[in-house]
Amino acid sequence: MPTLDQAITSLQQQMNISGEKRRYISAAFQREMGKGLVGEKSSLKMLPSYFTNPSGQEKGIFLSLDLGGTNGRVYLLELLGAGDFKIREALAFPLKGYDQKSAGFYDFTAPSATGEDMFDFIVGKLKEIIRQDIVYSLGLTFSYPCNQEGPDHAVLLSWTKEIKTAGVVGRNVGQILTAALRKQQVNNVTLQAIINDTVAVQLAGAYGQPDCRIGSIIGTGHNSCYLETTGNYLAKPAIVNIEAGNFDKLPFTMYDQELDMHSNQPGVQLMEKMVSGKYLGELVRLIVLRFSEEGLLFKSFFSQLSTPGIFSTQDISKVLGDNTKELKTINKLLIQQMGITTSAYEERLGVYKICHAVQKRAASLVAASYLGILDRIDCSYGSHVIAVDGSLYNKMPGYAKYLNEALGEDIKGNIGTVTVKAVQEGSALGAALAAARPKY
Ligand code: ADP
Ligand code: MG
Repeated sequence: MPTLDQAITSLQQQMNISGEKRRYISAAFQREMGKGLVGEKSSLKMLPSYFTNPSGQEKGIFLSLDLGGTNGRVYLLELLGAGDFKIREALAFPLKGYDQKSAGFYDFTAPSATGEDMFDFIVGKLKEIIRQDIVYSLGLTFSYPCNQEGPDHAVLLSWTKEIKTAGVVGRNVGQILTAALRKQQVNNVTLQAIINDTVAVQLAGAYGQPDCRIGSIIGTGHNSCYLETTGNYLAKPAIVNIEAGNFDKLPFTMYDQELDMHSNQPGVQLMEKMVSGKYLGELVRLIVLRFSEEGLLFKSFFSQLSTPGIFSTQDISKVLGDNTKELKTINKLLIQQMGITTSAYEERLGVYKICHAVQKRAASLVAASYLGILDRIDCSYGSHVIAVDGSLYNKMPGYAKYLNEALGEDIKGNIGTVTVKAVQEGSALGAALAAARPKY
């Protein structure tokens, strides 16, 4: 039987993504991109968006609607040009919750609700921030995989992130939204654009920085897009939604296999399951559980650790942010959240090291995918901005640092020309920019 130290060292080795591995992964990513673009079998869908980078000259007041999880948001946003904008109105609303007016619970994410119900509700929210005497262009950021058949025509391929609303898959969500607007006599709002959240981030990043060629999300899920200028896109460059979370040419550990096996959709979104907020906490739990089973950590608390979801991705941030000498924050978390009432310092340190290994691997894998995209668009790594949004990149201590370090190592000799830039309010700004642009 190994000691705790030996088991941790072995885990760190399994989770380590060396520069050489990253190059191998990025080459595979690049190959999958190429195959997806020409319609060959690939784990990367490479969905064209009908949008290209903004000119930076876009100005005026626009409506944005952000639908990407259990919360929706509507915005009235003023574009001021050259990257500058002001949010005039913003209203967030859960798609499931308690309604005070009717004193009842509602859930537009459940199969008991239809797409019509959901968009009727959303239009009600939109009405709260618009005036009757102004004509508006509306942009929708819709963060689910869609087949884009026009700038304002997106057919939902499948719901993700636990949404199960009936009667939407296979239909144009733009048509459902427009029908809901007209049904409620909202005739001064025209839907101009539907985009994915990665495309929104890229548009937002490129508004002030024309050399922004890649957009990426590292939040609940993970995905990236980029501006393609070759092949079919030579005459008309367009942003392509990679659906990067489905990449599957990766070095999996037994923990990844276990997580995937118990997930809602085994075998898909394998990269997303190694790098994003929906999964990293659970991955840590599975590792700690295995260590507990082997008597290396929290031996008498095995049953507590067996509960799925007991450790969240936010908890990883709490663990990694523990700077106390005795690891008191970790101790508190173990007691309050997991019922692990007693722990040795070495055990708490073990949890820290597990979180660290899982996080560092996630950041390295994302860096490898960015390298794959960069290699496709410009293997001499000229000046490029990668626009990133999402709570993991923005809030998890160390994630941004490791991602930047790995990317810096990979493009050494060209450091300083490629920069990763955190974008705020990317979904709202991107939707407004998409609505503002002349149609592709
Ligand atoms: P979304 O991706 O849903 O649009 P976010 O980018 O805010 O929204 O990501 C939310 C996800 O990020 C949550 O699922 C959660 O797992 C994770 N998360 C939120 N806050 C933190 C944090 N401080 N540290 C680590 N993960 C976080
Ligand atoms: Mg988001």
